[in-house]
Amino acid sequence: MVITLKTRELAKQIIRTLKAHGFEAYFVGGMVRDQVLGLKSEDIDLTTSALPEDVMKIFKRVKETGKKYGSVTVLMEDKPFEVTTFRTEGRYTNNRHPEEISFGTSLEEDLKRRDFTMNQLVMTEDEEIMDHHGGLEDIEKRLIRTIGEASKRFEEDALRILRALRFVGKLGFSLEEHTAQAMRKHRYLLKELAIERVMQELSKIVTSDYRTKAFMYMLDLDIAPVLYGLEEGIKNVAHLEEDLYPIEFFILAHILGDVEDVFRFSNKERAIIERVIELHEVTKEDDFNRFIVYVNKLDMCLLVNKINRILGYKDQEESIREMHERLPIHDVCDLAFKGQDILWKTNLKKHSLIGVIIDELKYKVIMEELPNEYKALEEYALKRVEETLEEMDDNNE
Ligand code: ATP
Ligand code: MG
Repeated sequence: MVITLKTRELAKQIIRTLKAHGFEAYFVGGMVRDQVLGLKSEDIDLTTSALPEDVMKIFKRVKETGKKYGSVTVLMEDKPFEVTTFRTEGRYTNNRHPEEISFGTSLEEDLKRRDFTMNQLVMTEDEEIMDHHGGLEDIEKRLIRTIGEASKRFEEDALRILRALRFVGKLGFSLEEHTAQAMRKHRYLLKELAIERVMQELSKIVTSDYRTKAFMYMLDLDIAPVLYGLEEGIKNVAHLEEDLYPIEFFILAHILGDVEDVFRFSNKERAIIERVIELHEVTKEDDFNRFIVYVNKLDMCLLVNKINRILGYKDQEESIREMHERLPIHDVCDLAFKGQDILWKTNLKKHSLIGVIIDELKYKVIMEELPNEYKALEEYALKRVEETLEEMDDNNE
């Protein structure tokens, strides 16, 4: 969701309505931080003393998105706003899940459970910012610092280790020293996290503006070795200037190191990763040719070439584009003489033979050994049919 003035106005209406019912309500989280930094944010989080049940009674359109955790989504003119009740968290299990959550506590208590000082700023509907834990000063110093004792906060929830790195990537901030050392100390807790959450945060880091800084922290704090074989990938990509999609990072990591088979990719992503790795092997030392470009299509070849280039092999982008542009056919349907024509012109019944001959025609046309013209292809195809039938007769005798 893009936050326009209109969207903010709708959020302010939610705050005013909650206040009119006697509750406290504020903007909180990333949006307030981003506003202080003059950055655009993606979503608006609101925090309130009202219980989820209260919010559901007050607003007409509410979805129970995370009611157990005190969050509901209020829809205003079809836009979603996450409204979360002030809460404190009891002891944590699995370094991620609080065992108990109590609602309806104070704003002060709610802010203490948040991760970093920059993420606990709150803002009133009149855009007055309140800062209970030195967040503005840390933003000024461009520092990421946990609220409370760092070691304890990462032990409670190890996802915060990756969140800290994600904010380094997004903002280019540094890690405050205690925060950094506690991240190092508790790095093995990352193993307890659901792999989907790890991938989600890693993907955001890979595409972030300050990826280099985040990756350097991962290496310096010995976090990279805990990440399921991604270390070599992280090392090699750390100083790369080029933008990367998450899948490109995972492909590089697979080529460079022994990545454990723990990451969850969709079938489509898995197929792309495997294909790129195969083609990389074929093209890293040798040239792409027209047939490779035809079979794999332009985007796949450019992706393989990008991987090759990043790994220090020859950049063949220009010739790939040129070959693609000059391809006489892009699909078997573009052949001037088709399987159907072979059927008509001969009394062949064997479809597998037709397939073989069409493959030959395709190859010859693509490699410009034959022009894509009916007469020329017909002549070649009929000659091949005849030859093959003779061979078969010979074998039968
Ligand atoms: P983004 O700009 O990526 O949305 P954000 O800071 O808003 O960043 P969210 O994941 O949207 O991050 O979370 C909203 C707020 O909830 C955070 O700013 C923080 O105050 C709190 N929060 C989120 N995850 C955690 C966590 N794991 N531990 C403690 N507080 C958290
Ligand atoms: Mg947010």
